[in-house]
Amino acid sequence: MSILLRAEDISISFGGIKAVSGVSLAVERGEILSIIGPNGAGKTTFFNIISGLYLPSQGRVMLKDEDVTGRPPEMLARRGLCRTFQNLQVFFGMSALENVMAGRHRHERTSALSHILGLRCVGRENARSAAEAREKLDFVGLADLAERSAGGLSYGALKRLEIARALASEPELLLLDEPAAGCNGTETAQISEIIRKIAGAGITVVLVEHDMKLVMRISDRILVLEQGRSLCLGPPSVVRGDSRVQAAYLGQH
Ligand code: ATP
Repeated sequence: MSILLRAEDISISFGGIKAVSGVSLAVERGEILSIIGPNGAGKTTFFNIISGLYLPSQGRVMLKDEDVTGRPPEMLARRGLCRTFQNLQVFFGMSALENVMAGRHRHERTSALSHILGLRCVGRENARSAAEAREKLDFVGLADLAERSAGGLSYGALKRLEIARALASEPELLLLDEPAAGCNGTETAQISEIIRKIAGAGITVVLVEHDMKLVMRISDRILVLEQGRSLCLGPPSVVRGDSRVQAAYLGQH
């Protein structure tokens, strides 16, 4: 199994707080890997480091053997890494289709070239972009709502729209930050099915998620963080039975 992303001995502090401390992780190509842990465990911070939003004070992030530590998200998108955010980042005044078209970071240079070559080329490029965006909407079950204003979509549909937009950059590695947060049971089941489909299409998925049922159902492996440290890494059956993990979660309540 080849390694797509490697986080090596990552640490970062905010003031006196060590939010992430010496965490290493090798993400295997094709797997679904979930990051879990009690509130304040460092999940989002670690996610922000591997997606280029934060520069770690120690350690490095290797994407396909290239050191991408602290590289901006646009550059990472061109290298095949794309992410969603816990809070919706939707353009509510735009249609679902336009929102997805806005996610095609990796093709920006092609568009710029089209501008140089002439307007007919731009028109063709836009048509292709729209067709590909429709495919992504179809992938997440939103094809019928393509022309609908994002402001008129249900919450569950908006969460799927965000996934479609991330897919529009044709990632090899998709990072999903709490994809099911705030979703009801039906919406969570839809998201879960979509994540499986994404992995089935050959895209590696790393997610942060609080919904333990979802995590246990879809993950190949789970990384458990506690107080910024890696507590346990393994398949769901191993994590579920780990006494340290049980203690970490019980300690929260
Ligand atoms: P949750 O499940 O509640 O979202 P989490 O596991 O994602 O939690 P983080 O948000 O990564 O945890 O936070 C880890 C620690 O770092 C917490 O103590 C938090 O207060 C602190 N922290 C995170 N971001 C910042 C920041 N920008 N400035 C200061 N402290 C921060």
